[in-house]
Amino acid sequence: MSAGLRAALTAELGAGVVVTDADVLATNARDEAHFCPAGVPAALVRARSTDDVVATLRIAGRYGVPVVPQGARTGLSGGANAVDGCILLSLTRMARIVEVDAGERIAVVQPGVVNAELSRVVAEQGLFYAPDPASWESSTIGGNVATNAGGLCCVKYGVTGDKVRALEVVLADGSVLRTGRRTAKGVAGDDLTHLFVGSEGTLGVITEITVALDPAPAPALTAAATFSDVAAACHVVDAYMAAGARPSLLELMDGPTIAVVSAYRDLGFPPGTGALLMVSSDDPDRAAADLAAFAEVCARYDATEVVVAQDAAEADLLIEGRRLVGPAHEPLGASLVDDVCVPRRALARFVQGVAAIGASHDVLVTCAGHAGDGNMHPGVVFDPADPAAAARAHQAFEEIMGLGLELGGTITGEHGIGSLKASWLARELGPVSLAAHRRVKDAFDPEGLLNPGKVL
Ligand SMILES: Cc1cc2nc3c(=O)[nH]c(=O)nc-3n(C[C@H](O)[C@H](O)[C@H](O)COP(=O)(O)OP(=O)(O)OC[C@H]3O[C@@H](n4cnc5c(N)ncnc54)[C@H](O)[C@@H]3O)c2cc1C
Repeated sequence: MSAGLRAALTAELGAGVVVTDADVLATNARDEAHFCPAGVPAALVRARSTDDVVATLRIAGRYGVPVVPQGARTGLSGGANAVDGCILLSLTRMARIVEVDAGERIAVVQPGVVNAELSRVVAEQGLFYAPDPASWESSTIGGNVATNAGGLCCVKYGVTGDKVRALEVVLADGSVLRTGRRTAKGVAGDDLTHLFVGSEGTLGVITEITVALDPAPAPALTAAATFSDVAAACHVVDAYMAAGARPSLLELMDGPTIAVVSAYRDLGFPPGTGALLMVSSDDPDRAAADLAAFAEVCARYDATEVVVAQDAAEADLLIEGRRLVGPAHEPLGASLVDDVCVPRRALARFVQGVAAIGASHDVLVTCAGHAGDGNMHPGVVFDPADPAAAARAHQAFEEIMGLGLELGGTITGEHGIGSLKASWLARELGPVSLAAHRRVKDAFDPEGLLNPGKVL
């Protein structure tokens, strides 16, 4: 069947769009996640237009083969991984910023536009595209919408879905659906737009996105505080937010994370530092007062030191440690990055529980993340060449999700379900919600060809 499928794709789309070279297919068969299977694709289509996507889905339907939409493949849940015999449908060539309307404060983009590129272009017009996943220099807006990605400044500005106003989506049968609106308000019909946000390529292929923009924020003031006890830092987060703070960034690194970063680059943390909090405020009228309030809460919880940056360069230095968390883990082997979000009042119990899980399985688990949202990224470090270590790491990873659910949280705050967490979704949703999800899937994709094996 592959030969017929490839011939049909090539005849319709041209050889420059359809790739069948086995090495190229293998290179494109997976995202950045560990422990996620990747099958052998039949073809890779590098779509140039909505018409190419329509043609691909029509041919896939005719041959009954699965389609796996792909952005930049930076995903951390196996969502963009190939399944056997599938068409990989890459949207990265559809990378045009169609329009920036400064008056209406919106941008219309194709799905392959890289997040940072959109941010830079709108900044030139005094505007701000807020969602800022740490992968912003490589991940695409289409992938960000399909995973409902978050990031550092989401604590104030919300996640990707909060900024999506309208979509163009190619459905499984090749028809083109337009959802949503350009206007600031609008309630006509069901909110189909947000049905597709976070659907991870299982309901349709997103081919155009209209996003809301904010006015460019004022330059932020930043402070950092160290603690000997990570629970104290977590209590600061809870108390500070409960007092009504609106920081534009509120990040936490636990002691093991600080040790890993310090081994990678000496940023001057005293050995044994138990936790680091970083906070920014971009409120033009209140930033200094916000940081003073933060320092006051830190003092109440026995911070060992609170430093307030005097300028933008110093602010950059204070949050450099957070930026180095990913690179600092690379020399250690593989890291299975979790993504649990818990209520802020449960943050201390979560971070302490994560450490206990790591100790009980004899694996290093670091814990850093978007503490202001309660969204932490425990990183389970292991040697991929050691099967016993990998099995212990996987067990720890699973128990961390269980702990998150016990504490009233969710198994994924921003990375999505993909195949990595598909077996856990039923535990979080319960039978009624799971059945409703299945009915939605059946309505949009009755043949089950869109990204099968992911999410549900
Ligand atoms: C170093 C690093 C840092 C990261 N930091 C963050 C972070 O701070 N916050 C965060 O939320 N995530 C983060 N991630 C995860 C990842 O970058 C996000 O999930 C991102 O949104 C994926 O975008 P992508 O273009 O790479 O999509 P891909 O990985 O290619 O795809 C992701 C999912 O979306 C689907 N998809 C992609 N494009 C489309 C489309 N046009 N239509 C329909 N479905 C589509 C795919 O099928 C897949 O299920 C990070 C990853 C890395 C490697």
